[in-house]
Amino acid sequence: MKHLAVISVIALLVLAGSIGTAAQSEIESPCSAPEINVVTTIGMIADVARNIGGGCTQVTALMGAGVDPHLYTATERDVETLFEADIIFYGGLHLEARMIDVFEQIRDGMGKPTIPVSEVIPEDLRLTSPTYNQPDPHVWMDVQLWALAAGEIARGLSEYAPAYADYFAANLAAYTNELDALDTYAREQIARIPEQQRVLVTAHDAFQYFSRAYEIEVYAPQGITTESEVGVQNIRDMIQLLIDRQLPAIFVESSISPDVVEAIVAGAEDQGHEVVIGGLLFSDALGDEGTFEGTYIGMITHNVDTIVSGLLGDGE
Ligand SMILES: [Zn+2]
Repeated sequence: MKHLAVISVIALLVLAGSIGTAAQSEIESPCSAPEINVVTTIGMIADVARNIGGGCTQVTALMGAGVDPHLYTATERDVETLFEADIIFYGGLHLEARMIDVFEQIRDGMGKPTIPVSEVIPEDLRLTSPTYNQPDPHVWMDVQLWALAAGEIARGLSEYAPAYADYFAANLAAYTNELDALDTYAREQIARIPEQQRVLVTAHDAFQYFSRAYEIEVYAPQGITTESEVGVQNIRDMIQLLIDRQLPAIFVESSISPDVVEAIVAGAEDQGHEVVIGGLLFSDALGDEGTFEGTYIGMITHNVDTIVSGLLGDGE
């Protein structure tokens, strides 16, 4: 049994390694050492920047596993890190709501390339928050949209270091192939859930883009940002939905307090409907560094697998 566990861990590591580094291993880096100091906010951006920048970039993410970007304020050390960066990538679309001033100062005051990668997405493909009149910033949940953000990262790096533009373009092409495969995987897997149960109930509204791209209904009691209070009526509505649709599972998120989700589970149980917490989804942050879930592709794969097995109720 122990041997089996060790073997499967090794298999996972090999799989994660081959998926995570394919773009870099096939294309030779023109840089003998990292020359470009890249700083990002969320890990999803950092991971894409690493795949595209390869051996020419040193990438630092300010926000690690479990960190909520909506509420994040820059520490003094973050500001120093940002000042030392050659190029900064952040999400934009109001994701890092409390860091906008810092980015504007750096962009306008220092003239440093400071790029909101999600704002490359055409307006007609953006969604707005159901609760506020603001754009929905969670675009990484649609893999095809995140491929556009990857293109913006490649553009930013190439503009900063035109000598390496061919290298970045080759890495982008290889990574885009991986994203295409991921997008197909997500679509095929979600389609396995019968339509009646193809409903994702989770703590906050990070999954609207996922919903549109992969055809699954999404309900979130917390609204679009984590700053809003959750109303009691909202929780009652969620419980009723679980009962009406006979949903077997509800999901928690790594960067959000699980209290709301637990209250809904308990409320449904009081009314005789058994609901399990179907697992942890990564919404606004990657998993731990060095794990498969610590990469963008790993994060989405994990979410898809967790949702499918939770809603099929087969514990596979
Ligand atoms: Zn969010």
